[in-house]
Amino acid sequence: MGAYDAFKQQVVDTAQRLVAGGYLKGTGGNVSLRVAGHDAFAITPSNYDYTRMVPEDVCVLDWQLHVIEGARKPSIESALHAVVYQARADVNAVLHTHQVYASALALINAPIPALFDEQVRYLGRAVEIIAYAPSGTGLLKNNVRSRVRNGHNAYILKNHGALVLGHDAERAERNVELLEKCALAYLLALCTGRHIDRIPLAVREIAFAQLRKDEKRYQ
Ligand code: 13P
Ligand code: ZN
Repeated sequence: MGAYDAFKQQVVDTAQRLVAGGYLKGTGGNVSLRVAGHDAFAITPSNYDYTRMVPEDVCVLDWQLHVIEGARKPSIESALHAVVYQARADVNAVLHTHQVYASALALINAPIPALFDEQVRYLGRAVEIIAYAPSGTGLLKNNVRSRVRNGHNAYILKNHGALVLGHDAERAERNVELLEKCALAYLLALCTGRHIDRIPLAVREIAFAQLRKDEKRYQ
């Protein structure tokens, strides 16, 4: 078994569960994992049907995006994934989704304030909007780099989708689900036109401190 095989398998399994859950749409979105002990990450190939993807289709790249393993073209968002791993030592899984409810908030430029304890505990103080830049560009990568240092684990990409992080693949997947639940609840609440309460500031800070504690542990 090769050094990267277990990571490639986990990329496939994660991507396929995200497709089944409706978080990756068609070939849109991409999945990567940091390869522990190597200066490398495993990422989904570009524009490829996730339902028929097998571990051999997954690409392994170094931080300069040189291909270490894999014959397919790597995701066009590879540079974006690489800057997250370099900026955040606590992050070992990066999921870029086109999930619908978070994408709706991306269209109306609506960050999600601190609405639920669980949201802040796992996603951060707020789900902020990362400024628009076209998919796959260095501009988008730079916009991401300047934001992820705040220690949050979910961001909305303006007019595009979502960027979700985790200390491992399972936590990142749970964060995708949590983001979508928060996005849907927030959209429904916005539709009522009524006042939307946030959690108390003190509770928000306690929950965020727990997340920061985790992040230090995983660095
Ligand atoms: P890839 O198929 O190249 O991963 O691109 C999909 C995408 O979501 C671009 O933002
Ligand atoms: Zn995308």
